[in-house]
Amino acid sequence: MTGFFSEATLEQIRAASDIVDVIGSYIPLKKSGANFQALCPFHKEKTPSFNVNPHLQIFKCFGCQKGGNVFTFVKEYEGLDFPETVRRLADRAKIPLEFEQGPGEQQARHIKEKLLQIHEQITQRWQHALANEAAGQIARDYLAKRGVSSEAITLFRLGYAPEVWDDTVNWGKNKGHEPAVMEKAGLILRKEGSESYYDRFRGRLMFPICDEQGRVIGFSGRILSGDEKTAKYVNSPETPIFTKSKVFFGLDKSKRALLEAECAVVCEGQLDLIACYMAGVQNIVAPQGTAFTAEHARILKRYVEEVVLCFDSDEAGQNAAVRSLEHLLASGLAVRVAVVPAPHDPDSFVKEFGGEAFKQLIEQAAGFFDYYLNRLCTLHDPKTDRGKLTVLREMAEAVHRTGNAVLIDNYARKTAVRLGASPEAVSAEFKKLVRKPTRQPQEVTTDKPALAEVPAPSDQERALLCVLLRFDETVQVAVGRGFDINWLRHPWVQKIVSRRFEIHNKGEWRNLPAFLEEFSEVEIQELTQTAMNQVPIPDPQRQLCDIARDLRDQYFEQQADELIQQARDPTISEPKREALLVQVDEFEAKRGQPF
Ligand SMILES: [Zn+2]
Repeated sequence: MTGFFSEATLEQIRAASDIVDVIGSYIPLKKSGANFQALCPFHKEKTPSFNVNPHLQIFKCFGCQKGGNVFTFVKEYEGLDFPETVRRLADRAKIPLEFEQGPGEQQARHIKEKLLQIHEQITQRWQHALANEAAGQIARDYLAKRGVSSEAITLFRLGYAPEVWDDTVNWGKNKGHEPAVMEKAGLILRKEGSESYYDRFRGRLMFPICDEQGRVIGFSGRILSGDEKTAKYVNSPETPIFTKSKVFFGLDKSKRALLEAECAVVCEGQLDLIACYMAGVQNIVAPQGTAFTAEHARILKRYVEEVVLCFDSDEAGQNAAVRSLEHLLASGLAVRVAVVPAPHDPDSFVKEFGGEAFKQLIEQAAGFFDYYLNRLCTLHDPKTDRGKLTVLREMAEAVHRTGNAVLIDNYARKTAVRLGASPEAVSAEFKKLVRKPTRQPQEVTTDKPALAEVPAPSDQERALLCVLLRFDETVQVAVGRGFDINWLRHPWVQKIVSRRFEIHNKGEWRNLPAFLEEFSEVEIQELTQTAMNQVPIPDPQRQLCDIARDLRDQYFEQQADELIQQARDPTISEPKREALLVQVDEFEAKRGQPF
């Protein structure tokens, strides 16, 4: 059983897709003995270590160790998921696909195709309005003022949505698109208590957001009137083809450059990205909005080993940089931070000083922890005792998340210099602040690594404790929606949460102090105390769902990674490998869904 596709179909597609033909259609292959060779498309190299074996129908790179069959290649090269890969190869081989999931699946596919078609058409419509229509003058003026070239406008397919309530509504009617489908596409909205609709994007400069294959899947619309500084964006809502947390603006254009540079510059806004890209810094992406998700980190990891965050120099931008850290570190990416000197943002900086100056800024970007130490010392005066303690604690927590002893030691020394303390003292405090356990927790039976190897609870785990312990009603939601204890990594957090659920299920909840009394471990007391000292939470239930989704997705990601490791084992059979990869895709499909 392989989910969407039968074994027979997969086999038929594989037989019709000669690996040399398929890979040869992407990159030039050179015959070398019985095999073929090429410069590896997955890592940067000068001499070919990428091999294709026509006899075994597999490829292998001895440089970056990527390897697999024809499905693996297309999946990796095109950045597709497994079903899309199968479809791509089936199309190529002109093999019709039967869908084992029946009409539901076919309908979902049909809707997606329809939405993609509408997005492509409306992109053209808005491009035309920007280029040719009188109403588009305001947008043309704006772009001219911001110094956006006509090449950039064409390349990024910018458009203009006219300043009326029914332009898109009427356009859809003329094109014969059902209003309900237009609504599903996120382009129009229904008036409350009525059958009539109105446009979501009105009087806006339109930035199409593309998937990695360059298909338009959503929009970001920038308002053109009003105050520059508070300019607002309206984005497409989540639709069957658009998931904000999984999309980077610009990635469809920058993916080759990312592979070549082995490094991704992450900026905040579309105009920043366009300015940098046009100035020659093409290894650049922008998440939608400032929230950087675990999914974003995972996508970047497919392309690069290092990320340079280049956020605005203002407070919001710098906070966004710090918040991105957790996901980036968890994914194993190296992180540096480039600070654009105030009052510039990347866009205005590039316009004033040019692409070369920006490249230098990126090259000279400090390692994340150097940046962070600087920032902490700016925010908390290290000459005061209070400042010293804060810097010490925050640095300890941040570097411990890497789980890397060399880094921890290195930054203990750097922190010591800033605090005017001895490195030994800071090292000792670092160790104390991220407490090692004195014994194993008793009731939790897991095969997780011993606690000594487990880093401190993640921010999300802390936040989860905070919501669950402070807002009793969230426990019901978590239990009701099937929160799985295995999504938690930290044994103490697991222990606390499973006990809290157990009490809920038995209907024995009294109050928090009584609950905390159950735990003898000092560490658990401390953990719950710090979790409780968090900021006010306006919408606890929402918060819970967001945290639960992230924790669940991280867990699925980890499971998928383990399966991928198994699938890389060269000794396993092809059907077994395929089965593993299908399981991987099933995990991937489940991710990003609301909790
Ligand atoms: Zn390679």
